[in-house]
Amino acid sequence: MNPMIYFDNAASTQMHEEVIKVITDCMHAIYGNPSSVHEAGRRARVVVEQSRRTIARLLHASPSEIFFTSGGTEASNALLWGCHKDLGRRIFITGRLEHPAVLKTLESLEKIMDVEVHFVRHQPNGHVSLDHLEELLKAHPSAVVSLMHANNEIGNLLPLKNVAALCAQYGALFHSDTVQTIGKFYTDLSKGVLDFAAASAHKFHGPKGVGFMFVKKGHALTPFVTGGGQEREMRAGTENVCGIAGMAKALEMAYLDMESDQKHISSLKQACMALLLEKIPGSAFYGDAAGSSLHTIMNISLPEGKQADMLLPALDIRGICVSSGSACSSGSIKKSAVMQALNTNPERPSIRVSFSRYNTLEEVQHFVQHLSDIHQSS
Ligand code: PLP
Repeated sequence: MNPMIYFDNAASTQMHEEVIKVITDCMHAIYGNPSSVHEAGRRARVVVEQSRRTIARLLHASPSEIFFTSGGTEASNALLWGCHKDLGRRIFITGRLEHPAVLKTLESLEKIMDVEVHFVRHQPNGHVSLDHLEELLKAHPSAVVSLMHANNEIGNLLPLKNVAALCAQYGALFHSDTVQTIGKFYTDLSKGVLDFAAASAHKFHGPKGVGFMFVKKGHALTPFVTGGGQEREMRAGTENVCGIAGMAKALEMAYLDMESDQKHISSLKQACMALLLEKIPGSAFYGDAAGSSLHTIMNISLPEGKQADMLLPALDIRGICVSSGSACSSGSIKKSAVMQALNTNPERPSIRVSFSRYNTLEEVQHFVQHLSDIHQSS
């Protein structure tokens, strides 16, 4: 059997060997509840607090600004709800290309609470229009802006500093879903760029079901998940001790190899784009793939032919895991919300390819060859 080619790293990543070791060692040795005051509990507490300090140190944050959650979705839910219920903000500005963790949360807030949501326009290449953002901020200076750092479907990068400067100029708060970028770049949260951020361990070779939120000092939020007094009364529920330890290790490992990983993954993306253009004439890329784009993600727009819901299983049979921006429902092609917002041609299948440190040039070559064969057989 051919080894699997895993090109769906924006969905989740393979855990780093060092991370697996930290988690399994922790599972053997640490079984107390970190809220218990006896020795077993204290040992678990040490693991949680050391992990918090590691994460805070790497991100140039204070440990008191990091709160553990079950992942990126919970972090954005808690932060956006907190902006309304605790900070009294009732106007939110976001984009139609955001992840459902943000869009659905704002939809709920609008439905249940006295909240207004405004959508910033995008340019045809998927970048946020900063001029329109400024217009919205002029009209709603006390808004909360929620815009993701890197788009999970097309990879476009947001100019965080420019958005932060606009927010600061008008007195708005800035939340960013940084799920696709934490662990991919050196991040400095001490610069005051972000008020809030959401992160998820499984996107940077850590375990699934654990993440954290960053809350800049001075923003007094109350818990979204209520119950016990864990996480300094900010997030109830017994901490995922070994998951948290694994997440801290994953971030440490990501920082250790940051530059070489960036270089390697960028070269795979470039090679993949060049090969696709050569082997499948008429193919193109959604978003700003050759410009301000995350090195790990690319979204291919294929010439008309077999639809993505036919291509994906054909690739899967050949051991290649990718994802698509559309799905077939009741005989018609249903585009993802991002593809709809970008107003893409439904006849051109979209395939998202997302790389990690574990991918190779040989895999890229195999993938392009298989995709070209399948596409030609349409
Ligand atoms: N935000 C973005 C941009 C994502 O890509 C994802 C995961 O796909 C999430 C949020 C959700 O993160 P989690 O799986 O940790 O809930």
